[in-house]
Amino acid sequence: MKDVIQKLAHIVQTVSHATSPNEQMSLIVESISNSIDTDVCSLYRANEKGDMVLYANKGFFSSAVPNIILPAGKGLVGQAAINRRPINVANAQKHPNYLYVTQTKEERFQGFCAVPLVSMRKTIGVLVVQRKAARKYSKMEESFLVTLAAQLALLLVNLPLPKCDEGATNLITGMKGAPGIGIGNCHFCDHFDLFQAPNAPCENIDTELDEWRELLAFVSNQLDDEKASLAGGIVEDVSAIFTTYRMLLSDPGFSREVENRIREGNWLPGALRQATQFLAERFLSMDDPYLQARHEDFHHLGNKLYRTWKGAKAASTKDLSDIVLVGQLVSVSDLASIPRNRLKGVVCYSGSILSHTAVLANALGVPALMGTGPIPGLTDGQTLIVDGHQGQLFVNPGELLLAEYQSLIRDNLRLVRRLDSLRDLPAETTDGERISLYANTGLLADLSPGLNNGAEGIGLYRTEFAFMMRDSFPSEDDQVNTYSHVFSAYQNKPVYIRTIDIGGDKPLPYFQFDKEDNPALGWRGIRFSLDNSNLQMTQVRAMLRAAKDTNNLNIILPMVSSSQEIDAFASLLSDACQQLKDEGLSIVRPPVGIMLEVPGAISQISSWKNKIDFISIGSNDLSQYLLAMDRNNARVASRYDHVHPAVLREIERIISITKASGIPASICGEMASDPVAVVLLTGLGLRKLSVSATKLPQIKWMIRSLSIKKAEYITSKVMQLDSASAIRKQMTEFLGDLGLGEII
Ligand code: PEP
Ligand code: MG
Repeated sequence: MKDVIQKLAHIVQTVSHATSPNEQMSLIVESISNSIDTDVCSLYRANEKGDMVLYANKGFFSSAVPNIILPAGKGLVGQAAINRRPINVANAQKHPNYLYVTQTKEERFQGFCAVPLVSMRKTIGVLVVQRKAARKYSKMEESFLVTLAAQLALLLVNLPLPKCDEGATNLITGMKGAPGIGIGNCHFCDHFDLFQAPNAPCENIDTELDEWRELLAFVSNQLDDEKASLAGGIVEDVSAIFTTYRMLLSDPGFSREVENRIREGNWLPGALRQATQFLAERFLSMDDPYLQARHEDFHHLGNKLYRTWKGAKAASTKDLSDIVLVGQLVSVSDLASIPRNRLKGVVCYSGSILSHTAVLANALGVPALMGTGPIPGLTDGQTLIVDGHQGQLFVNPGELLLAEYQSLIRDNLRLVRRLDSLRDLPAETTDGERISLYANTGLLADLSPGLNNGAEGIGLYRTEFAFMMRDSFPSEDDQVNTYSHVFSAYQNKPVYIRTIDIGGDKPLPYFQFDKEDNPALGWRGIRFSLDNSNLQMTQVRAMLRAAKDTNNLNIILPMVSSSQEIDAFASLLSDACQQLKDEGLSIVRPPVGIMLEVPGAISQISSWKNKIDFISIGSNDLSQYLLAMDRNNARVASRYDHVHPAVLREIERIISITKASGIPASICGEMASDPVAVVLLTGLGLRKLSVSATKLPQIKWMIRSLSIKKAEYITSKVMQLDSASAIRKQMTEFLGDLGLGEII
């Protein structure tokens, strides 16, 4: 056994030195051949159709591996794939499923063992060993291969799928970044990758520092120009993203980081790379998906600064009429550099729906696909169809497919015109029930999209972002400044602002947290802020001072699980009000409510009726805790679904308890931005939703197209189903019948 573990460790270590996927695969088959008594080792990878493509081989061929594809389900390899269990036989040719492949001349080999590689329930490949001797592989050898296959599957799943057919249409899938359909020619964004910039000694620290400051000023002006070039043609929300970039650039923390590295003796590109990586990683390690996605902003900015330093010119887009921008991380500046009428789509190998690239693409109405992974074989100028509704990219589409998509584009245009016309209309169902639509935000720069889309207030302002952006706690005055912007932008509209939801897995770089085994259940949210009541007092005083003229403050407490937490906060709030009154300010005590995110809070709601003014359902965390599934863990992401029957039933219970207790309830988790869930939430009785600003028009259209009676009927039907997938399937049918299919 020890031997097996050693061999495995050796193989994993050997493979980790490979510089390309092909080399990795070759090293794997080579190492296996050296580890067990075998003459041949082959690794097959399933393509989109399920055919098994030979990826790497040791033993059949003396030079390059030829293009061998075994049709899906055929031969012993196909059988092992379909049955998802090993086939280990003394003589392969005597097996009824044996399939002879001429190129391999495999009649020389008799002993055969095929082991499937399975990832997320799908067979993604097969590992095969063969030998001349007519002898089965031993139990020990088989179990070694099975163990190795489990490790290999983790590796293989991240490699690009082999193409089905050269020249044929190739389908690539990704995350839906922005809806819509676009057809255009592939145009790569050529980035000088900052992360390749080497360290080098800095010859003169003062000159290098001056060069950095000049570069900073130059790029800041460039951003202003790019923002101006967009502002004429399109909506104002876009400028907010540029404001964020400007804020990051003018943040002393960023500049200080670069300057410190220069002072330590690194030249400008090296210092810029170190500072960018440091800040990007700080955000990447955060648990909140929104904040996590902000790491890309640093990558974009770092690359932009580096390109400018290198004197790079924008790539020419002269020859192409309609453009689909493709790149690792297409930047906001890349988007700004293409005239809107020529920009038909965006494809990013990495990134998520929360990337600013996706946010900008949404605002511009450009379909976008995120996180596709590298697309092998894609070349500049190739025709692409970007389907942002389905999260699909077609490379080299045939004529029929093109015609079909062109007709969909025409239908889509009609829908967009309809949504635009709703902007100033109330979110009212066809039977006259009014639903309040609020916006979620967390950045000053993100205030305008909600306003532009007709938000009636801010349903959730996440304050932690301002804390994470800095290298020390913001002072009371700093916070007053930030919150005042929020309150005055939404003057005469309610703003629900949340006390910092920090701790454990959302660490502050300047506050020492002990490592926790289970941070999601650890020192976070209200637990953290109450224990640091000095920080909480500063924040609450800042909120009260900032809202003293606008009077639209409502405070939300995150992760509440006990009465004591509510009582402790109430007492701190009383202190804060008294202190400010003593200082001569006229302060009104604001309403205070809780985020309902901890399942254990549900049964306590009725006992809190005299303690809280409202509850806001945080369906992101509530679903995570109800289903015991980490919302950010890619391995369980496909199972995490807020329309899971368990989540719906708990929401039904929350609504019933809050109604009986007379506590107003709303929802601010991502569920409220999902059209399918919105039908169910309104059917269950919620009348106030706080949604992503960009989703507001779509959700409003949904509400205006439906009667409450119908929503209640649909909800009562799907509540009888026993899985999220069955619920989604049924909802697709219901909404399709209502002519609302295009919205989901
Ligand atoms: C939630 O948990 O639903 C929520 C809105 O809070 P956050 O996503 O910031 O944890
Ligand atoms: Mg939460």
